[in-house]
Amino acid sequence: MELKIQGLSKTYANGVKALDNVSLTIPRGMYGLLGPNGAGKSTLMRTLATLQEPDNGAAALGDLDILKQKEELRRRLGYLPQDFGVYPRISAEDMLNHIAVLKGVTNARERKDLVRGMLVRCNLEDVRKKALSGFSGGMRQRFGIAQALLGNPQLLIVDEPTAGLDPGERNRFYNLLSEIGEGVIVILSTHIVEDVMDLCTNMAIIHKGKVLYEGRPDAAIAQLSGKVWQRSIEKSELPAYEQKYRIISNRLVSGRPSLHVYSEQPLDSGFSSNSPDLEDVFFSKIQGWS
Ligand code: ADP
Repeated sequence: MELKIQGLSKTYANGVKALDNVSLTIPRGMYGLLGPNGAGKSTLMRTLATLQEPDNGAAALGDLDILKQKEELRRRLGYLPQDFGVYPRISAEDMLNHIAVLKGVTNARERKDLVRGMLVRCNLEDVRKKALSGFSGGMRQRFGIAQALLGNPQLLIVDEPTAGLDPGERNRFYNLLSEIGEGVIVILSTHIVEDVMDLCTNMAIIHKGKVLYEGRPDAAIAQLSGKVWQRSIEKSELPAYEQKYRIISNRLVSGRPSLHVYSEQPLDSGFSSNSPDLEDVFFSKIQGWS
């Protein structure tokens, strides 16, 4: 089974073209949808989660038409939105029980086992009686995953899952995600390159509603081989370098700017060839250089 997206477009009432003829084929496993803020990721995720309509295009999960068979799709979908907005003053356990009812688990005993199992799996057992409104960022994220995984979805959509987590919480979240069965399609929408690098076997880069790359992260990196150059400069030299070179990134290392520059020709005068990473890929694609 795969998720096939064909020619999805969406222009909002204010004239913003959030999706511009997006086509993607997403296999089972962890799939990274990488793009800067405003790229159109949430619009695409919400469309796939049947929460909004596109203007044009089609999307299918296996032989299921996502845009037409919405109820069917919802039964096979787990969705972790960027933010739930309101965290009610009811316990994690009661909330999961309620969601299980909504997902159609009518047998009380079966539901109890299901909810208990999910609390254990997401490391929430100790806090199951605690009100969601008092949860920390990491606990909210684990609760989000627990509610998304209830009912064994075939398609799991997680939108910007690590924004706002500290490194420890992020690691725990990564581990939880990577335990999810290989049989599930997991779409991880993010602007954080590391999330994709660490977790995803396949990916797409989107920017201004358009797909700029679709494939494996390592293949994207290989395409950039020999085209990334590094050099440390003085701060005062920066404007001149910005004029002359295609600067992928400019990071301070011990207080001095360290540049990554895109060039298909070898660069002289103090530049050295640098092995590209996914961040170099991301920025040079978004700039339209590669
Ligand atoms: P991302 O999730 O990648 O940050 P979004 O899909 O949220 O991107 O937004 C894509 C573009 O569409 C942005 O320019 C955003 O401001 C605009 N946008 C998103 N939702 C709406 C809306 N409901 N009405 C108008 N413009 C919107």
